[in-house]
Amino acid sequence: MSKGLVKKRGGNCGVEQHISSICVHKGEEPVISDKKSVCNIFFSHCNMQCSYCQNYEISNNKNPIEKILTTNQVVEKVIYHLNQGVNKVGFVSPSHMLAQVIDIIETLKQKGYSPVFIWNSNGYDKAETIKMLENYI
Ligand code: SF4
Repeated sequence: MSKGLVKKRGGNCGVEQHISSICVHKGEEPVISDKKSVCNIFFSHCNMQCSYCQNYEISNNKNPIEKILTTNQVVEKVIYHLNQGVNKVGFVSPSHMLAQVIDIIETLKQKGYSPVFIWNSNGYDKAETIKMLENYI
């Protein structure tokens, strides 16, 4: 699906993962986080560009702090945390990275990992975007 999605979009945009950080985050709402926490993938850039953003250094679209990784590099880091007992993966500010998110999920599943996946967005997503996530999140 993801390769098809990338192809449909007419380019290689799904190959590059724009990542601010990948880490275990204990600060999500307790009902989501529970004791095992969440492995969060913080994407750089954001579709909203709010003037008051506390994460401006990573959310701005001009020069965010980021690393550009391949999907396999991202998945390797996530698997490290899953192997430590974390059982959820959160995608933070993911709206502009839909193809990349699906690529990560599919790659994890191909490698035998099926954690709970969390779409942690600002809420401003098109209905079509949410529909495309139906079988993933
Ligand atoms: S939606 Fe959130 S992360 Fe994005 S710019 Fe606004 S405050 Fe920052």
